[in-house]
Amino acid sequence: MALYAELHRHLGGSVVPRILWRYFQRNDPSRAARFPDYSEFETFYTKPRQSLDEYLELHTLVESVQTLQTLPYFIFRLIRGAYIFENLAYLELRYTPYLRTDPHLSEASRIEQMADVVKTVGLACQVPEYPIVTSQILCMHTRLPYAVNRAIVDLAAHFPQFVCGIDLAGGDSVYGDRLGEFIQLYAYARDRGLKTTGHLYETANGCYPQLLPYLQRIGHGIQIPLRYPELLPEVAAAGQCLEVCPTTYFQTGTLERYDQLRLVFSRCFEAGVDVAICTDNAGLHNVRLPFEYENLLTHDILNFKELQACQEAAFRHAFAWPHDHPPALLLSHLLQNTLGVLGSSVLECGAEKP
Ligand SMILES: [Zn+2]
Repeated sequence: MALYAELHRHLGGSVVPRILWRYFQRNDPSRAARFPDYSEFETFYTKPRQSLDEYLELHTLVESVQTLQTLPYFIFRLIRGAYIFENLAYLELRYTPYLRTDPHLSEASRIEQMADVVKTVGLACQVPEYPIVTSQILCMHTRLPYAVNRAIVDLAAHFPQFVCGIDLAGGDSVYGDRLGEFIQLYAYARDRGLKTTGHLYETANGCYPQLLPYLQRIGHGIQIPLRYPELLPEVAAAGQCLEVCPTTYFQTGTLERYDQLRLVFSRCFEAGVDVAICTDNAGLHNVRLPFEYENLLTHDILNFKELQACQEAAFRHAFAWPHDHPPALLLSHLLQNTLGVLGSSVLECGAEKP
């Protein structure tokens, strides 16, 4: 059994349509009335959007129902599905904690409540019957003011048992005016010993080389191999890994054809840049991680050897995987030991024969 690492999954986009629809049926009569039929809801929820901005709007639908009270409900189902259907051994879950606080509270009270959100998510991820190593990435957000984003960095530093890094989300095309502010926040996070990733070079409008030196991993980063391949040697030298989420680019209109991904991977491989394959929003897309892998194989973007290299890179670049090797190696050792025992017992049996 292969076990995988998922480095880029949003809590908001992680709810598969059937779980969300059933939640509405059970708990939200007005939304349930809007979508009485499941298949209609699935079509609405998973259909491709015109742009990244329109796509991100859909996140707000899920964010609005993921409150402090309901988070355990959604996270239990997320962990169960990830274990049963995706063979995940490791999961980094990312979200903006401020957007899960009570919107009726003052900004100061919401900042205070973020700690409860992080603890609730952390505890809900620990499901004994579906064991997965999990950690959180807290996302700063382009819609939030400086003080809130700084509090998110402080919160991440305060909860190393639950949080392994920070990210910047909310659409990379709008960083421009506040670039200095985000650079300063990333520098602050690095000073506090935090690991960093960031949504960057996802779209043609989101290419800010000034942010690159502050990141250990690059959220998406596909425009680097596509439009700025001259940056790849620097990315390789810095040991940065690209978190490539194939389905997203077609859901957001960033790419048009699957074969455009071939150049992303081939240029990265040539330059020695690691790529981790991720889902971004497995629920919103209705495409789980093993199907991202399978799609890349069937579209002939990767061969099996290249796919395995990406799967191993995911464990190598995981911020909170506690072992030196991916779990496949542990299983191989286990298998060798079992075979060793079997082999010696076969020999013993053979020795007893006349
Ligand atoms: Zn993302």
